[in-house]
Amino acid sequence: MVDAKIYPSPTERPIENGSILIHDGRILAVGPSATIKIPRNTEVIDCKGLVVTAGFWNSHVHIFTPNLLHAEKLSSEQLTSQLQEMLARWGFTTVLDLASVLKNTTLIRRRIESGEVKGPRILTVGEPFWAKGGTPIYVRGFLEANHISMPEVESSAQAVERVHQQIHDGADGIKIFTGSVERDSILIMPLDLAKAIVAEAHLAGKPVFAHPSNQEGIEVALQSGVDILVHTTPSGGPWSSSLVESIKAAHMALIPTLTLWHVEFKGESPEEFEKGMNMVVLPELRAYSEAGGQILFGTDVGYIEQFDTSEEFAWMSRAGMSFQQILASLTTTPARRFGYSTHSGQIAKGMDGDLVVLQADPAQDVTAFSNVRYTIRGAKVIYSEK
Ligand SMILES: [Zn+2]
Repeated sequence: MVDAKIYPSPTERPIENGSILIHDGRILAVGPSATIKIPRNTEVIDCKGLVVTAGFWNSHVHIFTPNLLHAEKLSSEQLTSQLQEMLARWGFTTVLDLASVLKNTTLIRRRIESGEVKGPRILTVGEPFWAKGGTPIYVRGFLEANHISMPEVESSAQAVERVHQQIHDGADGIKIFTGSVERDSILIMPLDLAKAIVAEAHLAGKPVFAHPSNQEGIEVALQSGVDILVHTTPSGGPWSSSLVESIKAAHMALIPTLTLWHVEFKGESPEEFEKGMNMVVLPELRAYSEAGGQILFGTDVGYIEQFDTSEEFAWMSRAGMSFQQILASLTTTPARRFGYSTHSGQIAKGMDGDLVVLQADPAQDVTAFSNVRYTIRGAKVIYSEK
């Protein structure tokens, strides 16, 4: 890849006219174009006027759309096309699937890894854990319509057994609903149940994600040792500084999913919605970011049908996050959090050949993070704008 503006990492200065040499799926060299010798018979991608960053992570997706379910019946083309439209098109080379059908998601993952289907690296939690009566109101219809059963947890012993089984079957983490949205209330997971699930996942070295819904849900997450909050909490916010300090002290990461609230609160008037974002949601992200807490980019795509990421970047910017902080949430922070930092998250010698080529510079306008020309995973182009 030659003659690009390259951001090797969020903390390094950009290389104004740089080239990247990739061999066998990994980065062999990166530097000013004049210093990179291109071997004969190398395939060259001209990146003049374009901007290159490390491949993006989306830490909150669902491999759970009607076009991805029943993958055994889908052709390589069908799967590639849906994964492109939803993920690769937006620069994602690694995604965290935070609830889906584990068997189906691991099948898609195998088909990608074998090279038969083009797509991102997928890490998954498989089926989520919710307490008895805690199947969220907004997924009941979808589960029924698609004949999917996701069990409610009956006891700690049963939950521990399921954690063990899912990790054995390929799950990379566990997701719990410490607060489930029901018709007129939030159902809070009993603390002893949350503790049992978290302890079993940690025993296997796997992170636990919590959907909190409100501050009581955050409290259960804090007390049970959860690693990552998968949303802010629009109800009952904003967060007090002592709550922010507690979340930070627990080394939790936060996935803001700001676009989700636009989708969830579409019944509100634009004025009401803006007020909720300005008074509660954005201050929560701003407070955690300013406190130095880890932020992981995530959109909840696959649950929401809005694939376009530009709105998410605009919200993050409105919450006070800089270009460098947003780039970190897309690259180095998730790579470090999930144990991939030795080979993912930066453009440097020896790193994975996972790259995003943008048509404009996100340092000028962060929505350029969604203006993707190519997405490259392991040196293979998995998305190219026509
Ligand atoms: Zn979700």
